[in-house]
Amino acid sequence: MTKKAITKKLKFFYQGFNHLLWPAVCINCRQKITEQRKDLCPECTDQILASTRSHYCPHCGRNVSMYGLLEDGCPACIDFTFHFDAIARLGTYEDALRKTVLSLKHQKTELVDHLSGMANAVFSQAHFFPQIDFIVPVPLHWTRRLSRGYNQSLLIAKKLYHPSARISIDLVRIKKTKPQPVMVTAQNRARNVADAFAARRDHRFANKTICLVDDIKTSGATLNECAKTLKQAGAKKVFAFALTVAGQNPGY
Ligand SMILES: [Zn+2]
Ligand SMILES: [Zn+2]
Repeated sequence: MTKKAITKKLKFFYQGFNHLLWPAVCINCRQKITEQRKDLCPECTDQILASTRSHYCPHCGRNVSMYGLLEDGCPACIDFTFHFDAIARLGTYEDALRKTVLSLKHQKTELVDHLSGMANAVFSQAHFFPQIDFIVPVPLHWTRRLSRGYNQSLLIAKKLYHPSARISIDLVRIKKTKPQPVMVTAQNRARNVADAFAARRDHRFANKTICLVDDIKTSGATLNECAKTLKQAGAKKVFAFALTVAGQNPGY
């Protein structure tokens, strides 16, 4: 499917979801919306769609020109060791998509509905889509899940359509890690999540192909540690799907 066809599909999903809710203000910028049956103003809708259009590196998810792609990644990730085999993403961590995904962490769980159509348009086109056996949300430590009341990655996972893959919550976070704020170094992030995950004793990951689901991928340390744990548990392949990828600046 060409980029143009995907954008067309994304617009179609957007229009579909706009019929579901009818607020008077934009959920993102709070600007008053005059047009009926809209949940995001045209500017915010365009911002989100614009952030989904670029070519991106299938290893790290960062924007990259078609000519910047090397066999093992892009110039920004060529030296990074990946435990996940590839990543698909909705868009970059900026503008309206950034704000929408951040709000999803702060009790605005209804926003997952607004993004799910677009997320599925991308997810269903991922080259690894047909191979997936289990969709595994990146887990929160139980204390954080308790304080937030939900795991946003599980909410996203529940909105992804797949003809055969099932959601598994047999990957758990056993270490209470610090939040991964955007400005810490990649090494700090990796250290922060080292040995933070484990597969439940009765997991069924052996020889299975798994797609991890996360809301935001920053350095990739969390997804990487999850993928490493899943592979140690016997997973055949581990892919990742993120709503948004931060760290477009390689110096991040
Ligand atoms: Zn807006
Ligand atoms: Zn890359």
